[in-house]
Amino acid sequence: MRLLIADDDKTSRTMLEAISRVWGFEPILAEDGEIAQEILKQDNPPRLVLLDWEMPKLDGIALCKWVRETQSRNPAYIILLTGRHETRDIVTGLNAGANDFVTKPFDNAELQARLRVGRRMLELQTEVLEIHGQLQFQASHDPLTGLLNRGAVLENLEKELARSQRDKSTLGIALCDIDHFKGINDNHGHLVGDDVLRELSRRVVGTLRPYDHIGRYGGEEFLVVVNEQDHWGPEPFERIRTVVSDSPFQLDGLSLPLSVSIGVTRFSGTANAWDLNELLNTADMALYDAKKNGRNQVVLAA
Ligand code: GH3
Ligand code: MG
Ligand code: MG
Ligand code: MG
Repeated sequence: MRLLIADDDKTSRTMLEAISRVWGFEPILAEDGEIAQEILKQDNPPRLVLLDWEMPKLDGIALCKWVRETQSRNPAYIILLTGRHETRDIVTGLNAGANDFVTKPFDNAELQARLRVGRRMLELQTEVLEIHGQLQFQASHDPLTGLLNRGAVLENLEKELARSQRDKSTLGIALCDIDHFKGINDNHGHLVGDDVLRELSRRVVGTLRPYDHIGRYGGEEFLVVVNEQDHWGPEPFERIRTVVSDSPFQLDGLSLPLSVSIGVTRFSGTANAWDLNELLNTADMALYDAKKNGRNQVVLAA
């Protein structure tokens, strides 16, 4: 693990460099607070920091405060190093944001033990952040298809509505429903049905641009949101329809012809307000018309 050692005293710096290397750390040296700050501003900075209190330009206390104000997501672990040992100094250091405190002259074994504690805390912090990221992904994604789930795609839709109002652009909001999907389950089993959902998601995503949105809205229904800056038309939804019906799905030794019906409503950014339920209902009614008119088609709401 990299260890930033900030100390203006050359003898102390050299000695800390040597022993920390023996203890298995990779020392990075700074001879004053400003240099240490520059190192901490870089991408992927060292997260374990040994900071001298008294340094020219920027002292350890000021640097501690700066770190706490600027690093919130994956903060550094800071051990403050000082000749001061009054209780009120320790309180000042901890209040400034130091995690730990070692008084000079320090005992080598003690410093090593405190650095180990710091490393352990940082390792735990990394684990917690990783788990947090995984949970966030799971909370917003559908496990079968890997698409956004209903809650997450609706959240994106709300954001896009606000954005299209700002840009005065137009939004296409579509509900896509697989035609006669129940027959796939009934004739070939639920697992083949699941494969169809995965393959269909993959095909549809391939037709979208990175800034379009798609989510699994329900069992075999998908919500697609497309923002058009300059012009708007049914093309993105025609692409979805054809990518599904153009070639049969080759799954599990079977060749399955499939199609989707799509109901689309538009939202113009020049409108004053929107009603999310009304927009979704309008798209749903257009989808109903697409089904009624024979399926495998895109219907734009009037
Ligand atoms: P329509 O053309 O009118 O939409 O007919 P349909 O058969 O697609 O519609 P229906 O609503 O009757 O059936 C939808 C089916 O989707 C029923 C349900 O079992 C199936 N389904 C929903 N979620 C899943 C899933 O996660 N996996 C599988 N295999 N099937 C699912
Ligand atoms: Mg000093
Ligand atoms: Mg359905
Ligand atoms: Mg269906």
